[in-house]
Amino acid sequence: MRLSAVQNDRVAGVLVGTAAGDALGAGYEFTKPAADAVIDMIGGGTFNWAPGEWTDDTAMTIAVARALAGGADVETREGFDAVAAEFLRWYDTQPKDIGNQTRAVLAHRPSTANEMVWHAKQLGNAKQGNGSLMRTSAIALDYLDDARGCSDAAAAVSRLTHPAPEAVDACRIWSSAIRYAVLHGSFDGVRKAAAHTSDPGYWLRLLDQAENGRPEDFSNNGWVVHALQTAWWAITTADASSPRHLQDALELCVRAGSDTDTTAATAGGLLGARWGASAVPARWRRIMHGYPGMDANDLVRVAMRIAFDGGADERGWPLADTIDYAGFSTDRLAVHPHDEGVILSGAAHYDRAAVDAVISLCRVGAKPIAAEHIQFWLVDSGKDRNANIEFVLDDAARTINELRREGKRVLVHCVEGKSRTPAVAARYAKLLGRDPRDVLRVMPWARPNPALWNAATR
Ligand SMILES: [Mg+2]
Repeated sequence: MRLSAVQNDRVAGVLVGTAAGDALGAGYEFTKPAADAVIDMIGGGTFNWAPGEWTDDTAMTIAVARALAGGADVETREGFDAVAAEFLRWYDTQPKDIGNQTRAVLAHRPSTANEMVWHAKQLGNAKQGNGSLMRTSAIALDYLDDARGCSDAAAAVSRLTHPAPEAVDACRIWSSAIRYAVLHGSFDGVRKAAAHTSDPGYWLRLLDQAENGRPEDFSNNGWVVHALQTAWWAITTADASSPRHLQDALELCVRAGSDTDTTAATAGGLLGARWGASAVPARWRRIMHGYPGMDANDLVRVAMRIAFDGGADERGWPLADTIDYAGFSTDRLAVHPHDEGVILSGAAHYDRAAVDAVISLCRVGAKPIAAEHIQFWLVDSGKDRNANIEFVLDDAARTINELRREGKRVLVHCVEGKSRTPAVAARYAKLLGRDPRDVLRVMPWARPNPALWNAATR
């Protein structure tokens, strides 16, 4: 299905949002942070996570995502087996954090999806843990053109380990809502999906309670119902008037306590689908990592591969190792007028400049580079194609500042260094209290998009 630039950002946000919530909550699992505690991606917690490290919630989401990105169709026996096989592949790495119900099923090492479903059924419906809800976000990416298929695939993947009707319905609701948010940029899909479950009255009452209640009303959030309610409470309680909503709602999940990584991972999938990957601050994306040796940039590529159904754009993104910008003037190079440690360039330099960190403002290849690599979702256009234009320009400028404080030499680039790069450089000049127009003096070739330039220099 053909997606707009803003919808692509939201596709990418599904996995990045899930992982951001997970990595934020990981350090607070099974606790209730004090009211004055600063919530950040600190790591630690029960399993001594590294700062930015994601847990089993994201690992299992990635297991689903890898199967889907490989072309698995959950409705076929082969495709369903591929998801089950990815669960075992993860299980065999002996993860330090694994839910009880999931462990009880995977310990049998079932060789097919149907065998996995059978073992899950033997455990009965009493448990109703949140272990399938936490990993349900990726399903939406494979069913953007098929609402019914999305709901049914979410149900099927839940049944691999969590067959209780509450768990299955929660997955149907959440994956459907994520699908809706990617397409339409709103949270309305939650209630729409609840109205399509086998017991709409039950779920709509629970959503009402979440919107009007307090975390204490649904504090047993290891239970799938309370986990969904906590996530929905956070999303509907935080100020939703700007992309800051994503960070604020995730923080509320953590403040609600208990199974903080899972409630925040759950909320994060929907928040990322609504606001886009561009709403996840670089401060977090720089340190996010985890199974199977992935970082935030990798999550974007996996999500795009599912949504693009194995296809790519006209230059090979997101599949190609290097993106061919032949025909563009990619060789330009300048030094920031107010900071000689910041190089401004076109795409020809990004993988070979002698710098400590590279900030990419355009699509780049999958091949890793030697420097720290931070990618921003910025289109050479105005608000119509950049959902979070001010937020992203600000985030990029702040990130340059942070890297410079760390003593790092930074290269900032887009394709030609003509529009996005001068805009971000201007924003950085403003942050330093200097005249942003000086950027145009050192980059005489610059022709910044007026909307971008205005947003950067306002
Ligand atoms: Mg976890």
